[in-house]
Amino acid sequence: MDHLLSDRVKSLAKSATIMMAQKANALKEQGVDIINLSLGEPSFKTPKHIQAAAKCAIDTEAYFSYPPVAGYDDLRTSIAQKLQRDNGIDCEPQQIVVSTGAKQALANVFLCLLNPGDEVIVYTPYWVSYEAIIKLAGGQPVFIRGKLENDFKATPEQLECAITPKTKAVIFSSPCNPTGAVFSKQELAAMAAVLSKHESIFVIADEIYEYINFTEEHTSIASFEVMKDRTITVNGFSKGFAMTGWRVGYIAAPIWLAKACEKIQGQLTSATCSIAQRAALAAIEEDLAPTLAMTEAYRKRRDLTMELLCKIPGFQFSKPAGAFYLFPDVSYYFGKTDGRIVICNANDFCMYILQKAHVSLVTGSAFGEPHCVRLSYAASETQLEAALQRIKEALLKLKVANSIELNKPSYL
Ligand code: PMP
Ligand code: GLU
Repeated sequence: MDHLLSDRVKSLAKSATIMMAQKANALKEQGVDIINLSLGEPSFKTPKHIQAAAKCAIDTEAYFSYPPVAGYDDLRTSIAQKLQRDNGIDCEPQQIVVSTGAKQALANVFLCLLNPGDEVIVYTPYWVSYEAIIKLAGGQPVFIRGKLENDFKATPEQLECAITPKTKAVIFSSPCNPTGAVFSKQELAAMAAVLSKHESIFVIADEIYEYINFTEEHTSIASFEVMKDRTITVNGFSKGFAMTGWRVGYIAAPIWLAKACEKIQGQLTSATCSIAQRAALAAIEEDLAPTLAMTEAYRKRRDLTMELLCKIPGFQFSKPAGAFYLFPDVSYYFGKTDGRIVICNANDFCMYILQKAHVSLVTGSAFGEPHCVRLSYAASETQLEAALQRIKEALLKLKVANSIELNKPSYL
């Protein structure tokens, strides 16, 4: 019956991160000992004081009704204060819209900004859902591709070249999912200098990995005077506070756009969960020590994973400055075989590793970079050590495919 579905959903790609995690979970349910490095999911529990705030909100019985669509006033005020204090973003509580995760926040923004055919320049590699959400909203993604040698950061010249009269917005994440790259203040200033010549282009700055940053510096492009009235800063609680399941994200946007996002959210979902909002308030107002401790743990895991990956031939990668992903180029393995299956691309590579090493990764194609795969090091050190050992052993079984083997089927 699925031919009856709308063209909209038929042409929508399934989220590759979620799909790979589902595959891993299905194998796990069959009793296979899978190590899941596919989903960007912190292995930590939400800090205790945040849990306590949620329990307290339930016990007071004061938060069981529909919250205001854009979020509780005190939460919006607290977010605006945080953005002013920590990010140098000049904003009022009315400019904040709290949503069901940063994912919905992004969807609201694109639905409010894009008309059919409007172009959005996407810094590539990009987070999987950008492309899908832009297309759902009727827009046309235009990819500018960073190179490994440059930590996968597309240059201001590439940005300039991609701008057309149809360009409505530019989107990037920093720290970046999937590469871990962090744009420095100078790099963001160069981006702003290009955009200052094109006043009608908006910037969507996804800063959800703000706290998972191993450099000394996190710069928000909205803090530049020239960008302040046309930047939408996206952030949320999933990563820095290990709150993926609580579903709280937000935007800070020009007031007219914040109002439009509130309107759309009022028709689609209303406010996000009241109890989760009370927990988010505690997260933003109280002790950051658990967040900093998690970041320190991610730094150690990054170093460990890089050290182990260096011992396996054929992986080329840049050192991530933030987030919790490594994004190695694995094209060295393309055209190699275990005698049965030939690895032709990054999708095949991930399937081979899933089936032979029982480790789940995500193909770089989902992020716009077909030579790479994404490995999430948000897992425990023990899991990372075991996963890398298994990957090494599985890859040692590969040899260059001969002309007959090259004609055998690949995985996908
Ligand atoms: N942006 C980026 C770059 C992400 O990696 C994610 C995944 N967590 C999101 C947005 C969405 O986050 P959430 O909906 O969990 O707040
Ligand atoms: N953002 C995470 C990731 O990239 C979670 C999965 C998702 O929301 O797509 O893995």
